[in-house]
Amino acid sequence: MSTIRPELVEFIPQSLATGVLYISERYRTASHLCACGCGEKVVTPLSPSNWRLVRQGDRVSLYPSIGNWNYACRSHYWIKNNKIVWSGQMAAARIAQVQERDRLDKAREIEQRNRAKLTGKNAAKPLSLWTHLGAVIKRLLD
Ligand SMILES: [Zn+2]
Repeated sequence: MSTIRPELVEFIPQSLATGVLYISERYRTASHLCACGCGEKVVTPLSPSNWRLVRQGDRVSLYPSIGNWNYACRSHYWIKNNKIVWSGQMAAARIAQVQERDRLDKAREIEQRNRAKLTGKNAAKPLSLWTHLGAVIKRLLD
């Protein structure tokens, strides 16, 4: 998806069409389906503390960028003059995220290994007891 078409509506429809930026001036909100095609609905409230919609004729821009960090796709793009401009920093941001996830995975793995060691120690007690008993029985039988 590389372009988006603005459509002025009173109410944002329940199901959105791909490639359409629905704009409700009455409810000061805009909504569209994530430009990556994942199907997630992106709601951008239009207010000074949220998003600003700039209209030039039939072309629209949204500021700031759309960062769908809460969605699985984690896409990041701008809507500029009806165009989807993908963030050049997306790759770097994604790499940082993957590295962070790896770091957390590693930390979790170490934690699990330590926990396994602890439970292993606990499990080793009855095992060594049985081994010990086995050795005693064996000695008795000999
Ligand atoms: Zn997406």
